[in-house]
Amino acid sequence: MSNEILNPAETGTVQLKVEGLSKRFNVKHHGRKATLNAVNDVSFQIRKGETFSIVGESGCGKSTLGRCIARLIEPTEGRVLLEGEDIGALAGEPLRQLRKRIQFIFQDPYSSMNPRMKVRSILSEPLRNFGVPEADISARLDELLRLVSLNPDALEKFPHQFSGGQRQRLVIARALALQPGFIVCDEPVSALDVSVQAQVINLLVDLQRALGLTYLFISHDLSVVRHISHRVAVMYLGRVVETGTRDEIFNQPKHPYTQALMAAVPRFSATEQAQERPQRLTGEIPSPLNPPSGCAFRTRCPRAQAVCAESLPPVKIFSADHSAACHLL
Ligand code: SF4
Repeated sequence: MSNEILNPAETGTVQLKVEGLSKRFNVKHHGRKATLNAVNDVSFQIRKGETFSIVGESGCGKSTLGRCIARLIEPTEGRVLLEGEDIGALAGEPLRQLRKRIQFIFQDPYSSMNPRMKVRSILSEPLRNFGVPEADISARLDELLRLVSLNPDALEKFPHQFSGGQRQRLVIARALALQPGFIVCDEPVSALDVSVQAQVINLLVDLQRALGLTYLFISHDLSVVRHISHRVAVMYLGRVVETGTRDEIFNQPKHPYTQALMAAVPRFSATEQAQERPQRLTGEIPSPLNPPSGCAFRTRCPRAQAVCAESLPPVKIFSADHSAACHLL
């Protein structure tokens, strides 16, 4: 993978704003009613044309957050503003039209494509649903396949006739069909071989530059996040604990959790290898059904103090983009 990444978004306009978003689920736990706090009071802004990534271990709430932002599920509290418009207030036809503006790419291409439909039908479906004239559909299908570097003969095949990487290209083509400006990519390459991952990530980068797309990129894979992101938010047990530019997060992580995550990233250069490394993460992420008091990371944090159990850590700001929530910063 090339590591070159432009940052068109440093001074760009805000395209999506998340304000105080929380998502709770009512569940049964050991036969009793319980509340699962999947996402807690999350706020950030995403600028037009940038890739904003959310990283964290499995179960940290990042996929739930992505689904709330795309309005696939309803948040319990908070707002999501797309170009200044509160998408939670949309209903009926305006809500249906939102699908043109925000699309979602899932991890598993199998689950998001009907195996009994040919690619022609899979790609035509959203166009027909949104009233694209029949006379224009054929040219649009050719254009979509060209954008994702697949041959025109793909139209007459079924999903199982493609490799995993090609199937994910089809999923991307379908997400692009209605010309959205904003795409939520939820672990879009984690089901693919590493060599194929690089091709699909490079395709997403090329498409962003060609079409001016904005991505919310959700991943647990720090190498992929490092390659594709302009800015990164680190989530732990439903809360954002640190945000910053890619370089701030990877080269100057402030939060003990981010530092522990970075300790697991492979280092290749002699300079990198000579640098002192924080301790790697140990132990399991606690259950969101019973999160620790105060700082949720305290049960795994090598620097935890008494105060960490008493109250939520305050947010400390280091630069225009860089902030972290920890009592010791
Ligand atoms: Fe660790 Fe305390 Fe900071 Fe939480 S607030 S990250 S427990 S030092």
